[in-house]
Amino acid sequence: MNGRRRKAAEGEPSCGAAQQHRTYAIERGAAGAPLSRRVFVSLGANLGDRAAYLAAAREALAALPATALVAVSRIYETAPQDLPDQDAFLNQVVCLETALQPLDLLRECQRIEREHGRVRELRFGPRTLDIDILLFQDAESDDPELTLPHPRMVKRAFVLVPLAEVWEHAQGMPDMDVAELGRATTRTQQVRLYDATEG
Ligand code: ADP
Ligand code: MG
Repeated sequence: MNGRRRKAAEGEPSCGAAQQHRTYAIERGAAGAPLSRRVFVSLGANLGDRAAYLAAAREALAALPATALVAVSRIYETAPQDLPDQDAFLNQVVCLETALQPLDLLRECQRIEREHGRVRELRFGPRTLDIDILLFQDAESDDPELTLPHPRMVKRAFVLVPLAEVWEHAQGMPDMDVAELGRATTRTQQVRLYDATEG
């Protein structure tokens, strides 16, 4: 695009032991109107250097055309739920602002997954990187290729807890109490803040 949006490259957060969720400045048009739409994306990894895969995903998303990183949650560690007997996942939610259309963003997410070694073998099985689109501003869809909001997001503590941290950046999203939904799911699902010094 035409340089109207500041890239987040310099501001890419490092997630150290004392993690903080981060917010990035977004430039707007002359009339103050948003130039594009907000999106929440969830990142997950449970193979290899999991934190490095999340970092690579954040960087690749921020580098997409007409796309800027708005905020990133802290990173959480979660025991595998849908298919046990695999390593724990690291999960994070990022908020983007993008002029891409939803399906184009999905294809970019799938390309980023492929470029980071993801092989689709088992559904819900181990993966170096999983990128799901949770919510897309002013968009709803029941298309199986891209269902919006993501059909399983409201049941998953590992999505809701990090999402609550960046929910203040929501625009044109369903009216839901993400923090309360997150609290409800953590009664039965454990999510733990990840300490990057653990490796
Ligand atoms: P999962 O994320 O459910 O563990 P996959 O990442 O393998 O599984 O995705 C399975 C399919 O889900 C993909 O082929 C994709 O087209 C579809 N899909 C439907 N809605 C979404 C969404 N909101 N975000 C990402 N993928 C989605
Ligand atoms: Mg996925």
